[in-house]
Amino acid sequence: MSGGATEVRTVAVVGAGTMGRGIAQVAAQAGYAVRLADAVPSAAAVGVDRIRANLEGGVARGKLTAAARDQALARITVAAQVGDAVRGADLVIEAVPEDLELKRELFARFAAEAPAAVLATNTSSLPVAAIAAATPAPERVLGMHFFNPVHLMKLVEVVTHDATGAATRDLALAAARRMGKEPIVVRDAPGFASSRLGVALGLEAIRMVEDGVASPEDIDRAMTLGYNHPVGPLRLTDLVGLDVRLAIARHLERTLGARYAPPALLVRMVAEGKLGRKSGQGFYRWTDGAAP
Ligand code: NAD
Repeated sequence: MSGGATEVRTVAVVGAGTMGRGIAQVAAQAGYAVRLADAVPSAAAVGVDRIRANLEGGVARGKLTAAARDQALARITVAAQVGDAVRGADLVIEAVPEDLELKRELFARFAAEAPAAVLATNTSSLPVAAIAAATPAPERVLGMHFFNPVHLMKLVEVVTHDATGAATRDLALAAARRMGKEPIVVRDAPGFASSRLGVALGLEAIRMVEDGVASPEDIDRAMTLGYNHPVGPLRLTDLVGLDVRLAIARHLERTLGARYAPPALLVRMVAEGKLGRKSGQGFYRWTDGAAP
């Protein structure tokens, strides 16, 4: 990458929803100057309110000092326009809805308005190369896939496509580490590393319920007690949402093949409205958001 950003001082976060505000928070806590923008005028300010509340919670639990909270908040600026956030930024992180055309349109603008910045998408499933191809500088584009809730989840998948420059990758890895994350490098392939493996385990666990191999509780115990997984694959499916898992499985079936075909039981449960924690019933019965 010639003439590109080699050090990050200013991070622009575009999209101030669930993920964008989480990313803005960890970037500010890392000491970066953060500019937060959203297409909905009030959304970025609401995002900052949520960050403030989150940091307050950290102070109340003794995880953070009041001074660290104030310093982090002072580093975040709400930008009135996406262009204002992006101009002069060293790293742009996009967290708008999962829509390829929307992301392509934005990346073309980012490339023009921030000609030296590294441009990262937080997409969970779209091909990063297709987003990069909308810009004249695909070597500056890559994925930085954060997990929800951003301030608690340690993983960032740094997703490189064929044209991603080594300097772009290294800058994203360094920035993720400074934000307190443990990044991994993943080639731009469907499901990256996390969904591809996690969904495979979840779908097989559902097939085991279908086949009557063991109860959901005991299948989960096989993984928690036998493999030290913090949560079993069926309980995790309930937490994520069966509808969300079904959509990812269908996407991976289309892109990676029949081994990701969703089991009939999953399709039936979603049709019956058994979506897991959010609906009160999945592989477990949930009351007030918690399974007994
Ligand atoms: P969200 O709906 O909570 O937030 C998206 C925000 O983008 C909204 O505030 C919306 O107003 C804003 N927006 C829409 N169009 C815009 C535009 N043109 N310019 C600026 N802002 C615009 O979505 P989210 O859950 O934060 O997801 C964002 C991205 O992160 C998606 O690509 C998603 O796949 C990915 N992701 C989500 C999760 C998750 O658990 N929610 C986890 C990892 C990755």
